[in-house]
Amino acid sequence: MNDNSKPPADKKSKANKAKPLAITPNTVPSKSIPLLPLRDVVVFPQTVLPLFVGRKRSILGIEYAMKNGNYVVLAAQKNSKVDEPAVSEIHRTACLAKILQMLKLPDGTVKVLVEGLLRVNISRITEKIDILVCDTKVLNTESLSDQSLEVLRRTVLNSFEQYVKQHKKLPNEVVASLSNMQDTERFVDTVVSHLNVSVDMKQKMLSMTNLVSRYEYALTLLEGELDIQQAEKRILSRVKRQVEKNQRDHYLNEQIKAIQKELGEEDDGALLDELDKKIKAAHMPKEALDKAKAELKKLKMMHPMSSESTVSRNYLEVMVQLPWKEKSKLNLDLNSAQAILDADHNGLEKVKDRIVEYLAVQQRVDKVKSPILCLVGPPGVGKTSLGQSIAKATGREYVRMALGGVRDESEIRGHRRTYVGALPGKILQNLTKAKVKNPLFLLDEIDKMGADWRGDPASALLEVLDPEQNHTFQDHYIEVDFDLSDVMFVATSNSLNIPPALLDRMEIIRLSGYTEDEKTDIALNHLLPKQLQLNGLLPSELQLDESAVREILRHYTREAGVRSLERELGKICRKVVKRAVLNTKNTATISLKAEAVSKKPKKLPINTNIDTVLLCTTVSAADVETYLGVKKYSYGLAEKNNQVGQVAGLAWTEVGGELLTIEAISMPGKGLIVRTGSLGNVMKESVDAARSVVRSRANLLGIADDAFEKKDLHIHAPEGATPKDGPSAGIAMTTAMVSALTGIPVRADVAMTGEITLRGEVLAIG
Ligand code: ADP
Repeated sequence: MNDNSKPPADKKSKANKAKPLAITPNTVPSKSIPLLPLRDVVVFPQTVLPLFVGRKRSILGIEYAMKNGNYVVLAAQKNSKVDEPAVSEIHRTACLAKILQMLKLPDGTVKVLVEGLLRVNISRITEKIDILVCDTKVLNTESLSDQSLEVLRRTVLNSFEQYVKQHKKLPNEVVASLSNMQDTERFVDTVVSHLNVSVDMKQKMLSMTNLVSRYEYALTLLEGELDIQQAEKRILSRVKRQVEKNQRDHYLNEQIKAIQKELGEEDDGALLDELDKKIKAAHMPKEALDKAKAELKKLKMMHPMSSESTVSRNYLEVMVQLPWKEKSKLNLDLNSAQAILDADHNGLEKVKDRIVEYLAVQQRVDKVKSPILCLVGPPGVGKTSLGQSIAKATGREYVRMALGGVRDESEIRGHRRTYVGALPGKILQNLTKAKVKNPLFLLDEIDKMGADWRGDPASALLEVLDPEQNHTFQDHYIEVDFDLSDVMFVATSNSLNIPPALLDRMEIIRLSGYTEDEKTDIALNHLLPKQLQLNGLLPSELQLDESAVREILRHYTREAGVRSLERELGKICRKVVKRAVLNTKNTATISLKAEAVSKKPKKLPINTNIDTVLLCTTVSAADVETYLGVKKYSYGLAEKNNQVGQVAGLAWTEVGGELLTIEAISMPGKGLIVRTGSLGNVMKESVDAARSVVRSRANLLGIADDAFEKKDLHIHAPEGATPKDGPSAGIAMTTAMVSALTGIPVRADVAMTGEITLRGEVLAIG
């Protein structure tokens, strides 16, 4: 059924080698020539090509032609899908052709070899019995001079050459035969017949009578085809590159996986599954869960080795480790809490009471909504250890965050994830460490927190400490709310030098320094047992007299708390251990009461390879110097005799009260006043005030009028290396000056303190 064609046979085919027919319009018939409608081929004059004919009407037409001089008219159908085209559906410009050969195939179809002869216009088509016949009129070609055609011919040939190079199906010989072709008309027709363009385009070419137009049209077609070819090529190579890149990536990924497997690392899929499980097990609130799931989804789509995936993965690890739900069971028994507090700390009754009250209220209201406790006091009075004790008493985990030197807001609230190496803030980090959401959180040294251009950590703490806000604490890193309302915050501070907004949210509990008696108790009941244990001594191996403790307190420590005391006790313990370990036989040379103990203790905490001789050492006041060396401080030593110009003042220091001697002397001079002893500005002014007070009352006090012009005064506060400041030595200075100028000794058994005014009044002490 196919009136089909192959591309025109090349010129080497047998038929083509036949001698060209001498065709002129006059030698061919023009009436009643059989017409063969062709489906999708346009035949050009002077081309030879085979046709397969299947349609009954066409086969009959061929048979008719074979009996009538072999001429046929080959016309293209307007619509190739129509089987029996009507007269109107056939193009009127056609090619008159001669059948060179006819072959009947076994399946009933016919193969004919035809050679196009002339362009013709069909003037009339008639149906004759079973076949179509037509009358035709030859279309003559208008030609130009050979020279201008030659230019066009070369241009077309050039383009066609390129076309053939790209077009794999056309053999190179086609170009060779075309370049030898002299007939310009035949040349351009052949070129177009080789192009892979539509029937309509070829039909248009066929109907053109002007040869130049035909060349131009052929050029347009060629250029169009070349463009298409190039675009195709570009697309193809792009696709190829993409495919190659994908293949390469896939290959490399597979290699990475293989290497990881070889190294024993878990592969990525397993890790992601693990994360998924952890997210489900973390009991996050809805907001956090949604966020974590979204992040995991993103992570799954990322390249496992990319930096974003590391960020994402770290984020998820942080999220799943946070204690969203876990709580430790709290101890609600106030009696046992009190017992624990008592056992850990001597004295501090008021503080402990306040803490127990606080715990009682907490139980009733069920949440830590009351203000945050802030323990304020000098170093070493047990603030930190009290915090630890409260945790123990309430059954909470204990976490401590040192705020000393924290200047950066992000230490509290974390860095945004966009920063390299970002982490959550210390609050969440510590909670992660505690593994529960209701620990006791000790904010140590809250007064040492700074602020600079990196933000104000105190303001960030405000949010943390505010019971109204802290259930929706926002850390920059995790970006979702975290509930801090179950955390019990306790702050410690050395002074009340705390930002007012913070102070406002806290309940201050003051721990003042200890008295000597209190310190002695603490030393014997707490510090010594602790040091013995730390140094691997048994209680029976070292006994300390109360007198020894007082000796240490007075001459080796100067503090409000007990930290140095503890250190000194530690020193004694170490010396005792060392002696025991060295297995000394010359213990006698040390003036200690030492007696050998024959039986070995049940538990021997020190290195047992050394044959130790265990001793029971008792240290009394007299022995302390042997252990701790020369006395560091003179203790509360008032002058024994009344002296001129020497006054016992009292001073307040961070580490407690102290005797502060003020000395004054007068000497002949010009009325100058010299002040020494590392005095601060206020204290220097205080000296001036004292001088004015004395001078204004000179008569009353029996001081010679010219004393202030002819005598120089020198005021000195001994221990010149220790800086001193404050106005409260005013009275002592006034007294010292009066004594120096009048020569009346000052009573050595009276100590004084207080600021002096110009009216000569002493103000109440601060
Ligand atoms: P702070 O935090 O106030 O500077 P610490 O809590 O570090 O002081 O206390 C220092 C040492 O003194 C700790 O070993 C602590 O156990 C001990 N200590 C302080 N006060 C007492 C006390 N009242 N009873 C028992 N030990 C105490």
